[in-house]
Amino acid sequence: MDVLKLQVDVSTELNEFGKNEIRIQTNKDKSFQLRIGYWEKLDYSIIKKIQDKFHISFTEEILEDEDCGMLYSYDVYWELPPIEDEEPMSNCCSDPFTFPGWPDSDMCSQCKEHADEWDPEELEELEESLESLVDNNPDDGSWVGR
Ligand SMILES: [Zn+2]
Repeated sequence: MDVLKLQVDVSTELNEFGKNEIRIQTNKDKSFQLRIGYWEKLDYSIIKKIQDKFHISFTEEILEDEDCGMLYSYDVYWELPPIEDEEPMSNCCSDPFTFPGWPDSDMCSQCKEHADEWDPEELEELEESLESLVDNNPDDGSWVGR
């Protein structure tokens, strides 16, 4: 599972639930922080659907602000496969190829389908689509550092 792809998938899904002002902050560990609009609370039904679909888990973080009331953000956790050194990854699942590895094997170890090597340009496309989906504003001090 590629983190960026997960962020795109989750943002797309949230858009489909009518949640548009999405902000994402990637954490160092296996998680990222998610915020909707002005610290909007997500319905549990939406969280449940997204958790089940992508096999991830949401943790609700609530901050009580004197002026603004309750502020909600979410930590999203996932399980990443162990990272192998510089190993070519499949372009379908971004997982390693089956033994003896690319280019001798073109079978993805995750979905067992023939695949091509992960293309860095595809990563750029993912980055661009994430940018178009989320509303991150680096100048917004209220989000950074919270
Ligand atoms: Zn695959």
